Amino acid sequence: MKQMLNASEVDPNKILPIKYEWARTHYKNGVNNNWVPEEIPMQQDIELWKKKDGLNEDEKRMIMWNLGFFSTAESLTANNIVLSIYRHLTNPESRQYLLRQAYEEAVHTETFIYCCDSLGLDPDEVYNMYVNIPSIKAKDDYVVDLTKSILDPNFTTVGIDNMQRFVYDLVGYYVIMEGIFFYAGFAMMLSLLRSNKMVGVGEQFQYILRDETVHLAFGSDLINTIVQENPEIWTDKFKAEVTDSIKKGVELEVMYAKDCLPRGIMGLNAEMIKEYMQYIGDRRLERIGLAKAYGSENPFPWMSEIVDLKKEKNFFETRVTEYKHRGELAWD
Ligand code: FE
Ligand code: MN
Repeated sequence: MKQMLNASEVDPNKILPIKYEWARTHYKNGVNNNWVPEEIPMQQDIELWKKKDGLNEDEKRMIMWNLGFFSTAESLTANNIVLSIYRHLTNPESRQYLLRQAYEEAVHTETFIYCCDSLGLDPDEVYNMYVNIPSIKAKDDYVVDLTKSILDPNFTTVGIDNMQRFVYDLVGYYVIMEGIFFYAGFAMMLSLLRSNKMVGVGEQFQYILRDETVHLAFGSDLINTIVQENPEIWTDKFKAEVTDSIKKGVELEVMYAKDCLPRGIMGLNAEMIKEYMQYIGDRRLERIGLAKAYGSENPFPWMSEIVDLKKEKNFFETRVTEYKHRGELAWD
């Protein structure tokens, strides 16, 4: 019988009949969201970036910090999926999704190459920020630390301790990296877009946000399924450890936001981002069946509008339709 972990007697190539419909739904949502960064014109951004007094020092710092974090975080996520998660997750429906996600992470990595090229940024500066900027390094170190034990060639998911270790690390990749560490950056870059600045980069962040929403949904469903199939791992002690890890993620994200916005710009300040990150932290906890830790209100309701828009008629629809047409034409 198919099960998510330790199904050694199940053939990883036998995807049908499908047991985990949700994994297939996330795969299809990913495919329907197809995009590439080169479709988004950068001319306005290039002019604004290079114009004297086009952007103030604080705005430039905020943009650079976010490019610095995201440029390396995307390949870090891709490496985690391919090198550690894929090996242990032998379920074919999940592997099908992981292959799609790995491709999307490649598109995201490509996006930051495209931004650096168009804006004429110094690649050494951008790609060394994850080493040179302490608030970025702290986030990356936290996630890299989570790969260590499961990258051990002798690691298996057999036994309660190992399953807990694996779930703990999945929370690190999916809930913390993609569900928390990206969100202060999304709020900052999308609020810049709302004030009509750096609209090309902003639109690219919007597309990435839409993809990350699906990655997070897959990761949360995966965690919930493993827990459901192995309820013995979900002890009070383990739940407390997972909650602490998520709270540590929120803390690191708040420190990062303070560093990005030391003085506050565009009606955004680090205090509001703190509230936002606590609200996001609560939503992530609840999504995997844990109790809220903060009870903060959402100070940026427009962010949820952007996320929730994906299901309805929205700014992406034209592009998605175009893709479908292209697909149909290709078949003729
Ligand atoms: Fe990504
Ligand atoms: Mn992702």
